[in-house]
Amino acid sequence: MKKIYLDNAATTPVSPEILAAMEPYFTNKFGNASEPHFWGQEARKAIDEAREKIANFLGAKPKEIIFTSCATESINLAHKGLVESIKYKVSSIKCPHIITSSVEHKAVLETCKHLEKIGWAKVTYLPVDKYGIVDIKDIEQAIRPETVLVSIMYVNNEVGTIEPIEEIGRLIKEINVSRVARHLSPVYFHTDATQAIQYLDCNVDGLGIDLLSFSGHKLYAPKGIGALYIRSGVPIVRQQDGGGQEYNLRAGTENVPYIVALGKAIELVEQNKVHSTKCIEKLKSKLIEGVLKISGVKLVGHPQKQVPHIATFIVEGAEGEAMLLLLSDKGIAASSGSACTSGLLKPSHVLTAMGYKPQEAHGSLRFSLGKDTTLKEIDYVVKVLPEVIKKLRKMAPKF
Ligand code: PLP
Repeated sequence: MKKIYLDNAATTPVSPEILAAMEPYFTNKFGNASEPHFWGQEARKAIDEAREKIANFLGAKPKEIIFTSCATESINLAHKGLVESIKYKVSSIKCPHIITSSVEHKAVLETCKHLEKIGWAKVTYLPVDKYGIVDIKDIEQAIRPETVLVSIMYVNNEVGTIEPIEEIGRLIKEINVSRVARHLSPVYFHTDATQAIQYLDCNVDGLGIDLLSFSGHKLYAPKGIGALYIRSGVPIVRQQDGGGQEYNLRAGTENVPYIVALGKAIELVEQNKVHSTKCIEKLKSKLIEGVLKISGVKLVGHPQKQVPHIATFIVEGAEGEAMLLLLSDKGIAASSGSACTSGLLKPSHVLTAMGYKPQEAHGSLRFSLGKDTTLKEIDYVVKVLPEVIKKLRKMAPKF
């Protein structure tokens, strides 16, 4: 049976070039980068080089890049680290305020909820429009004297919609000018760029970003490596205590092979961005064209403000997880926003925030393409999906 992987937004396989780059650091070049001897210094050099590649890609300075284990850890460090720092350094702010959106990944939402639960922050969760986009005016209106952080994702992982990051960055910059004049603490801008880094401009100065999180396993590097960009001067208290690694912001012996892998992944993103964007866009158009021929199926997310690799549909009369299982039987791996937890079907918080009813949200189906996706595979999906939907609709009570 053919096996077709269309779940690249969940994770990607490690690419051979990346595996080759990281491999020596498991065996011959195994040193601890904190040691002054040859092995240690060889490892240190490899870390420095990877940091420099990532810094150049983001238009940042190397010392502004902190290696972590994943995007979730980067997000936790950014949010909790900033709030803790403000709590202790800025006496005028008793309870820091965070503004985020209701369609963020759980890594952001749960971190915010935790900060609320322990009484360290108040959080505003902004609504979105039917495409999943936050309104910049809502951000402006939500800002209060004690607001310290605006955290808006660059690209939504469930529907692929691109948020207006550059406009938000500009707004925050303008607001900060008047805040400084009023002796208020600045508002810092964090973006979760996990689904954006491969395809979109991530120049932190151009976009006005102070903190940016991402992960390697969406970029053909292994699971277990991520990074956080922290603009110089943004106050962050480390959340993992121990040694002085990562500029004293993330203790623990550095994972040299994985750091090398992330550096290589970014190098490859930079090299291949234009070509892979074009190829994937073409394949996605083909997929959308084919899938939309099925009656009762609609595309969700913004029609233009979209990343190339994500296409999400709502299928009337078919349930997401059931579609995934039948597609898997046909060798196709996709994803659905709804998750079956403890026997209860929970509709996607993203789709419900976009205004879809829970029963519509239950029928969501996400295909996410990658560098190895082929036209033949797309043709096969377009051929197989109508049969899968037909079969499920036969079982649906009202369809
Ligand atoms: N943010 C977004 C938008 C994501 O898509 C993901 C993973 O799917 C994460 C954060 C979490 O990434 P990680 O698993 O590397 O922590």
